[in-house]
Amino acid sequence: MRDNFKKTDVNELARQSGYQCSNPSCRRSTVGSDGGEGSASIGVAAHICAAAAGGPRFNVDMTPEERSSIKNGIWLCQTCSRLVDADVPSHPVDILHEWKKLSEIQAYLALRNLEVVQSRNYIKLEHKMPELIAEMREDLNKNPFTREFIIGSKNWSYNGSGKTVFSYHFEDHEHLQGKMTMCENYGAIVEITFNNVERYEFTEDFAEYLEVSS
Ligand SMILES: [Zn+2]
Repeated sequence: MRDNFKKTDVNELARQSGYQCSNPSCRRSTVGSDGGEGSASIGVAAHICAAAAGGPRFNVDMTPEERSSIKNGIWLCQTCSRLVDADVPSHPVDILHEWKKLSEIQAYLALRNLEVVQSRNYIKLEHKMPELIAEMREDLNKNPFTREFIIGSKNWSYNGSGKTVFSYHFEDHEHLQGKMTMCENYGAIVEITFNNVERYEFTEDFAEYLEVSS
């Protein structure tokens, strides 16, 4: 016995999520041209709690009506619908409800020509240069009102103006210049070089990332 969704509810789920997969790290479009004269769909109205006993996230306490209700459905692409059922521990009920909610909000905004811009993924940047970013985080936690830093050699003397400026050294960090370029590309820092000293500032987004993720 499977408590399947009504056809009208399947369509409604698709429309509520703007025909996009509700997985926030996927968000692919689930309808489009088939390349010929027709159209194709890769969308699935997936059950949050399984439609039948023994299925993923099955909840014995739900009635058949609740299981087949649109409230228990989430719009996903075929790949993600398989993913959430194959890896249940990573995709519990509350996560799927959150995906659904976010997807509906995004579709709501998109319909009004607004969009949610996801901030840069500094976690990825941190994976590329963990030691440097750990040092930046330590500095910033000690001096939360400082944004400026210089890069150079430990042997160079630098006459500061008295204000706090962080410094990172070539001796401690391989490819430091290249890392600066990557940080700039991620929007983590901006260059403010003057007086021949390579000087940068943390962006507020990146400073917040360093503060909250410590
Ligand atoms: Zn997907």
